Amino acid sequence: MKKLGDFMKEALRKEGLNKRNQMSCDEIVNLSNKIIKQIKKRIDFESYQVFGFYMPLGNEVDLRPLMEELINLGKTIVLPKVHDKKQMEFYPIQRIDEVHVGKYQVLEPNSKEKMPKTNIKIMFIPGIYFSYDGYRLGFGGGYYDRYLEDYPHLKIGVCYSYQHITSIPTNCHDIPMDDIITENP
Ligand code: ADP
Ligand code: MG
Repeated sequence: MKKLGDFMKEALRKEGLNKRNQMSCDEIVNLSNKIIKQIKKRIDFESYQVFGFYMPLGNEVDLRPLMEELINLGKTIVLPKVHDKKQMEFYPIQRIDEVHVGKYQVLEPNSKEKMPKTNIKIMFIPGIYFSYDGYRLGFGGGYYDRYLEDYPHLKIGVCYSYQHITSIPTNCHDIPMDDIITENP
């Protein structure tokens, strides 16, 4: 049964998506590049080999330039693919264009070689809102919550600073991030 918090989440999702849909292309590119700068300042890429990323949907923060840089450094980039039963798994790409349109219009990796969860040591995660205490509001499918339930490594929420807010309603299935990175230092 839906609880009050679920209705509050739904209202916040709508409001957040409205706001994000109003961003201009210039704004998205500029802020995304600033966010990449902050990621580079805060994350020691040397410490990791396999990086979980995502393909931006709509006006989500675009980390593709960073993905390309890491691929050129010989790192492994894995992207999520949606499976049955609202499950998600990650698959490697060797190039940024090794993807096709999948469920929900998300660009999914072509590869069929699933990356074991334990091999992914750091993951960048998009969201509509993140709270100061690390909670995430997604599209409402609960995909990341299911995947992260037993994910033991670093979870970094990535968003524009206006999406980083004091608090969001949570359920017990919600998995908090370890850190949130925006364009702000
Ligand atoms: P989102 O995280 O995408 O914002 P919610 O947190 O509201 O979405 O979750 C959406 C739905 O997904 C919930 O109603 C819940 O039933 C389901 N869900 C989330 N995590 C799990 C889980 N670990 N196991 C089973 N169902 C889950
Ligand atoms: Mg959730």
